Amino acid sequence: MIERGFALTGTCGVGCPSRWRVYTLIALTPPFRTGPFGRKQSHCCSPLGCAEYIALRQLHYACKSCDMQLNEKGRQLHLKDGRVLEAELIIAADGRDSSLRSMAGIKVTGWEYNQDGLVATVTTELDHQFTAWQRFLEEGPLAFLPLKNGQCSIVWTLSSETSKHHLSLPDKDFLEVLEQASGGILGKMLEVGPTLRISIYVFNLQNNYIGQRFAVCGDAAHAMHPLAGQGVNAGLLDAATIAELVIQTGRKNRPLASPRFSASL
Ligand SMILES: Cc1cc2nc3c(=O)[nH]c(=O)nc-3n(C[C@H](O)[C@H](O)[C@H](O)COP(=O)(O)OP(=O)(O)OC[C@H]3O[C@@H](n4cnc5c(N)ncnc54)[C@H](O)[C@@H]3O)c2cc1C
Repeated sequence: MIERGFALTGTCGVGCPSRWRVYTLIALTPPFRTGPFGRKQSHCCSPLGCAEYIALRQLHYACKSCDMQLNEKGRQLHLKDGRVLEAELIIAADGRDSSLRSMAGIKVTGWEYNQDGLVATVTTELDHQFTAWQRFLEEGPLAFLPLKNGQCSIVWTLSSETSKHHLSLPDKDFLEVLEQASGGILGKMLEVGPTLRISIYVFNLQNNYIGQRFAVCGDAAHAMHPLAGQGVNAGLLDAATIAELVIQTGRKNRPLASPRFSASL
């Protein structure tokens, strides 16, 4: 039996289904992410301020979607653990390497920056004063983002060659090159946590944000340079826009699969 509703995959993007219709919001989030939309019942705080409650009836997390089929009633989402979810509309929020986007035949055009973002948590000698510090260096900026516990999260944009070199250094030597690059703004670099190297490439979608009974949102739809610092904002606005369309469609009692709904996506 197909439930009225739509499935989300990824980090539990959001739709604020209207209370006037029964929707099952099925969200897949690999490690459960709490957050404004992660709780069972949460007040939707989409930028549109729609005071709708999300009846988050089913939350499948720590599972991966591995296949997706289109049928006359909607789409089926096959999970790695064998479960099959059915929904009238699938919204993919599974990030820049979205497998669902490829399954839906939506292509991307993009380009490599030959840059990486080195991301780590560091303990500094001086207090960050809840200030984000950014230093523009030859290969790219070094940003210290303040964390509540007094540490900093760094995003160090480097050429891929340099980032591989820095990643291979023992912690003590890594802290030394980091302190040098920081210009001493936060004093000595005392400790560094696990360091992640993220290759930076950007893309836009070649054709469309939507397929049949399918839409992408967030980084699955557009990936921009992390230093733009706009990825989350753009993703939230995608989610709010889709939520608004779902509510309007609900109010007019139109099926989510109506061509007019797809056209307005
Ligand atoms: C170094 C760095 C710094 C950044 N700094 C900023 C910043 O300061 N400000 C800002 O606004 N943005 C910033 N961004 C961008 C921001 O992180 C992204 O835009 C945002 O995380 C996108 O959210 P999303 O939910 O669309 O995708 P993601 O955060 O990528 O989440 C996708 C989720 O889907 C899951 N998933 C993938 N495939 C499947 C599957 N098959 N089944 C189920 N789940 C799946 C993944 O595990 C992941 O949890 C930064 C990015 C980087 C890399």
